[in-house]
Amino acid sequence: MVASPTSSAAAVLRAVLRNGPVPRRTLSRLTGLSGAAVSRHCARLVELGLVVETPAIQRMGRPHAPLDIDTDTHRVAGVHVAHEFCTVVVLDLRCRVLAQRRVPHVSGDPVEVLENAADELTSLVLEVIPGQAPLSLGVATGGWVDQDAGVMVEHASLGWRDVPLRDVFARRLGLPVHVDNHTRALMHAEELFGAVGNRDSVLYLFVGNVVDAAVRMGGRTMRGRRSAAGDIAHLPVGDPAVRCPEGHFGCFEATVADQAWSRRVAGRSFWDLLAAAESGDVVARRQLAERSRIIGRVAALLYDLVNPDLLVVSELGANSFPECLAAVREEVGTRSRAPGNPVTASSFDSSTVLAVSAGAAALDMLYGNPLSASFAPTSH
Ligand SMILES: [Zn+2]
Repeated sequence: MVASPTSSAAAVLRAVLRNGPVPRRTLSRLTGLSGAAVSRHCARLVELGLVVETPAIQRMGRPHAPLDIDTDTHRVAGVHVAHEFCTVVVLDLRCRVLAQRRVPHVSGDPVEVLENAADELTSLVLEVIPGQAPLSLGVATGGWVDQDAGVMVEHASLGWRDVPLRDVFARRLGLPVHVDNHTRALMHAEELFGAVGNRDSVLYLFVGNVVDAAVRMGGRTMRGRRSAAGDIAHLPVGDPAVRCPEGHFGCFEATVADQAWSRRVAGRSFWDLLAAAESGDVVARRQLAERSRIIGRVAALLYDLVNPDLLVVSELGANSFPECLAAVREEVGTRSRAPGNPVTASSFDSSTVLAVSAGAAALDMLYGNPLSASFAPTSH
């Protein structure tokens, strides 16, 4: 099979991302492309401002200029839509957060909320990269997101349906917009910039005010029809006394979602519960670990269904407190056929994970198809 120029360029760019700074000769070995093809792709990627030659190392009398990702020329922007606020962010091409801002929802109207977030992003971009436009915008959120249509089909905790995310942001910002479910976007972030790397099969479990799973098999993240794969909200593994918005009892999301859990178990907001746990409150820590145990039961169930090489958990307990991650691991260890210890916390800490998911929705497209990226002028 002859690889297309697009997929060859993407292979070179990804090899630079994983191995940079890296000499051209090594890139040829890593990608299986000829030296001439690697040189041609590198020249184009340098021209586009995606790859940069690092200072040459004089070795064996010949100059070698290893290549690395250019983290100075271009930026991408992101918007993550959560239950109570949007996160707007500017990132470099290694998905590092340069600046982010939390924007509380201004009303219950989706378009008003999104347009306000777009305006806040515009002001953040002006502050961080004055005179420069980001390459593209990634938009990530929980629940059912139709990636092709660019639409939030359903977000249970917000109560939003059929919100045209891509159209609203494209109209307001004039940028190419890439939309995805935040758990799938985080899977891509882990693959490109985090712990997943080249692993063939991975299960990603996200718990916030919504819960989602993402499954990667054969090196591809499953999307399902209209990108609906990964909905685990109504798995009947929660508290049988809790009724979900659709009228069932014992659903996973209704039981463990951040605010639902803290209101019911601790009688306070999730942020108060988290702050108490962070200040060493033993009861608060136990209440979070109890939730992690339920999450671990679901992780065990899904583990046996998928049987992945790695299971990544993203929830504020497991990302912050060792006993929460230990509770997830213990449940997976005792209830599933998982060998050893395949459970890891997200590579991205809780202060950046939402911002990273938004950035990854844009960067996954860039690293998948670098030659078709829209290259806005860097100054105007
Ligand atoms: Zn339900």
